[in-house]
Amino acid sequence: MADKKRIALLGSTGSIGKQVLEVAEQLPDLLQVEVLAAYSNASLLIEQAIKFKPNVAVIVKDDLYEQVKEALWNYDIKVFAGEQALNDVVEMDCVDMVVSAIVGIAGLKPIYKAIEARKQIALANKETLVVAGDLMTQTAYENGVNIYPIDSEHSAIFQSLAGEFHNPIERIIITASGGPFRGKTADFLRTVTKAQALKHPNWSMGHKITIDSATLMNKGLEVIEAKWLFNTPLDKIEVVIHPQSIVHSLVEFQDGSIKAQLGLPDMKLPIQYALTYPYRCGNRLPRLHFSEHPHLTFEAPDLETFPCLNLAYRASRGGGCMPCVLNAANEMAVALFLHDKIGFYDIPRIIEDALTHADYSNPSSVDDYLAIDQDIKQTVLQSIK
Ligand code: NAD
Ligand code: MG
Repeated sequence: MADKKRIALLGSTGSIGKQVLEVAEQLPDLLQVEVLAAYSNASLLIEQAIKFKPNVAVIVKDDLYEQVKEALWNYDIKVFAGEQALNDVVEMDCVDMVVSAIVGIAGLKPIYKAIEARKQIALANKETLVVAGDLMTQTAYENGVNIYPIDSEHSAIFQSLAGEFHNPIERIIITASGGPFRGKTADFLRTVTKAQALKHPNWSMGHKITIDSATLMNKGLEVIEAKWLFNTPLDKIEVVIHPQSIVHSLVEFQDGSIKAQLGLPDMKLPIQYALTYPYRCGNRLPRLHFSEHPHLTFEAPDLETFPCLNLAYRASRGGGCMPCVLNAANEMAVALFLHDKIGFYDIPRIIEDALTHADYSNPSSVDDYLAIDQDIKQTVLQSIK
């Protein structure tokens, strides 16, 4: 088997970040944590650093630097703070692979820097590919960098493609649980609260992606993510609702054969595959028994009640700045919903409004994308005041 892989984990204190560390803990002969980075959860970052003894710990919110530095003074761990530190640590010689478990566009620049520094990438942070998929995949291609998906649907597609790299994809079918509001009416959705939206039936995740799952925007973002990861046009990517979250996605080939990957809904499996590819390693994750899941069902998504999925297709077809506008408006709308400032249906309304009025020249650099992101977020914020 391969040498130990030395990883930089960005977003170590989040839902995905914590599960990456659980996987790393189980595979000490294969994985070594060299960098841990978090935004503001200093106490958890300190705890993780003491346990995993990385070379570097980064706290992005710089007023927490002293707290982290003081807690780790007795350990041989460097402590950095601030946004720029993220861009610097991904370039370090001691890092082979950068694992991005950051939520939102904050992951864009560090991942771009990591690709330029020719680090392998394990990506949970789908917003990065949604916003700048063209730039990211082109830069990865030029630098000989592979982007390994952590998102469970994309891991399933990637696993289904093993051994098929010379066979064209006829169709990608991305499964969606349908979220907490599957089968509900528009009237019901007009009155739902943040607490209801945060109750996902199958997955326990960070707040932003949980709201994205309730609006179906998460599936829209995943369609765009799949387009870039698997170099497949949008009209070959479909979404099917599969409430049990057992079939994680499917690929159809030219002969009509369909391959899928199945398993219990547990992110540690796709995380492990991304981190140990091309090897499959033993683990103690619970196994799937069909007798416990006798009904696997599939249905079409309700695009009228959940308009966000079509908004994502529209933005991706528009190209240029549009996916960045979609993502920025969604990030701001979700944040406002989580702060009880707007209702559930204001989320698609705000995004549609942003797409309709967007007028930017084609972005070509990370800074171009970040400028559009900031502009849209400001506009959305002002529009609700
Ligand atoms: P989370 O909110 O639980 O964690 C987010 C992490 O990002 C935290 O460690 C936080 O410190 C860090 N972070 C936030 N803002 C930052 C900033 N400005 N700079 C640096 N770090 C910052 O989110 P999550 O649920 O773990 O999701 C992370 C990413 O993975 C998202 O893009 C999400 O769509 C994707 N994803 C998550 C799941 C899941 O099961 N949670 C599944 C598939 C994909
Ligand atoms: Mg997913």
